[in-house]
Parts: sequence; structure tokens; C-alpha cells
Amino acid sequence: MKCRRCKTPAVIKMPRHNTAFCDPCFQEYLLKQVERAISSGKMFSKEAPVLVAVSGGKDSLALWDILIKLGYETAGLHLNLGIGAYSKRSQQMVEQFANARGLALIVESYQKSYGLGVIEIAEESARPACSACGTMKRHHFNRIAMEKGFPVVATGHNLDDEAARLLGNLLKWQVSYLEKQSPVLSDDDGKWAKKVRPLYRLPEREIAAYTILNRIEYVVEECPMSKGAKVFAYKETLNQLEEASPGAKHQFYLGFLKQKEASFPTPPPAKQDETCRTCGQPTQSEQCGYCRLIERATTVS
Ligand code: AMP
Ligand code: ZN
Repeated sequence: MKCRRCKTPAVIKMPRHNTAFCDPCFQEYLLKQVERAISSGKMFSKEAPVLVAVSGGKDSLALWDILIKLGYETAGLHLNLGIGAYSKRSQQMVEQFANARGLALIVESYQKSYGLGVIEIAEESARPACSACGTMKRHHFNRIAMEKGFPVVATGHNLDDEAARLLGNLLKWQVSYLEKQSPVLSDDDGKWAKKVRPLYRLPEREIAAYTILNRIEYVVEECPMSKGAKVFAYKETLNQLEEASPGAKHQFYLGFLKQKEASFPTPPPAKQDETCRTCGQPTQSEQCGYCRLIERATTVS
């Protein structure tokens, strides 16, 4: 198998492009895909720093690595969720990555802030763990970005994540979620940090290949709380479709974005007209979901 571009031995087959690449040509292609996502989505520029949310998994560490190679000014943000050995290992991976490259990293720990990990917070507030975890992450990403002067937060969501989410939203016909599903969420006139997903054009397989080629170490195991999550079934189904019809995931998700662009040229901003009376972040009601959650979790009954 030879590289389609330079005819040296290939290291990766790319059925969705009916091609194969050697190491340098693959990396050049991958960086171009990310640069294309950033510029076509007007995600950010080299003028302002980007806060990269890094979990310790392969996608967010690859994203950080790629943004540095592309010349963006970045800092990392890691939230230690307090899920035993899993969180300990995740923080170690992120610190190892940042230290080896001399990068700025912000770490916050739920145990230190609340005296509880995310599992206990979810239990105390009677919320499903993944939903409580999502609410908390969104709040802290926004809070820390605003406090530290980062207009943009980038996460490592990839094409598989976005296509699986789209499939889930379609299966349940969650139209309001479909409207909001976008790799760029507006900053609502500076009330929020803008949320962007620069890896949305790249399938997980290609990001995994990038981490191997660049010897990026990451936490391999999935979060123990996500066991049995429906998203894994959606991803498996999409992988089967991809196998039968290379390019299916890309057509599915990027086709959706194109259709949406035609119907809503700019993604509708989240209608968050109120200010939370407790934390001051934009919300739809008097108090935001995060503050209600924390109040329930920390109120001794
Ligand atoms: P997940 O929701 O776990 O699939 O993660 C999606 C993205 O959210 C990751 O690629 C990261 O960018 C970010 N993220 C998830 N967990 C954390 C964490 N503990 N600290 C910082 N960022 C995170
Ligand atoms: Zn609040």
C-alpha cells in the first residue's frame, strides 16, 4: 500500500477518501481538516487565546497538540471530577502532556471545591450521573473562561461523537436539540464564552492514528459512569454503516450541518435572557441548572 500523494509506503488506509497516506501526508491532511473547521466556522483566530478543555482522553489531547502545531495561543483546562482512580489517572495524563511541552494548564478539583466527587453530587441531587456531570462541566468551562479572559473554549468532540448525538436526537425527534446542535455555539454577545468543536470533521479512527503517530499518551478507559450509555450503541451502528458505505458518517453529519445552514444561516443563540441569582451566569429561569443541582447536593436534609 502506497501513499496516494508521494508514493512512499502508506501507514493508514482511508476508505472514506478511497486513498492511503504515509505519516507526513496523513498529518498534513489532518491539520488541514482542523484548520478548515476553524476558519469555515469562524471559531477563533490567532489574536486571542483559546481555552482547551482536556479530559486526558485521546481526542482532547490530540486537539491541544494540533492547535499548538497550527500556531494558536492556548491554555489547557482540566476538571478533576473525583471519580477515584479514573480521575487520578486522567489528571496525571493531562499534567504529563502539559509539563513535557511547557504549556499553561488550569486544574480544578470537585473534591476540593465541594468535598464531593461528581457521582456523589449526582446521587445527592437525585440526577442521572452523566446529566449532572454535563451540567457541571458546562458551568465550569464557562465560568473559568470568563474569569481568566478566554473568549473561546474548545472541546475534543469528534465526528463520531457528533454523528452519534445527531442519531440520538433524530431517533427521539428532539427538534429543539437538533436546532442547537452545531460545532460552534455563539457567545451570545459576550455573555458566554463561545464553545467550539474543531475536530468535528475527523472520525475517531483518524484521531487515534494521530495520537499513535505522535506518541501521545492518554487514558484509554472510558469513564466508569458511562457504562451502558446509549451513545455506544449509536456509535456501533454508525461504524457498521461506515464499513458498508465508507464516508457515511461524514455525509450524515456534514449533510445535516449543510441543511441546517440553509434553514438557519446562523445557529439560533441559546435563549438565556435571565441572569442566575446565585452565580450570575446566563440562564432561562431565576436560578441556573447548575446552582439548583449544587444546592440540592449540598443541602443537608
Ligand atoms: P465527553 O463528554 O467525556 O465525551 O468529553 C467531550 C469533551 O469535553 C472532551 O473532548 C474534552 O474536551 C471535554 N472534557 C470532558 N471531560 C473533561 C474534564 N474532566 N476536564 C476538562 N475537559 C473535559
Ligand atoms: Zn447559577
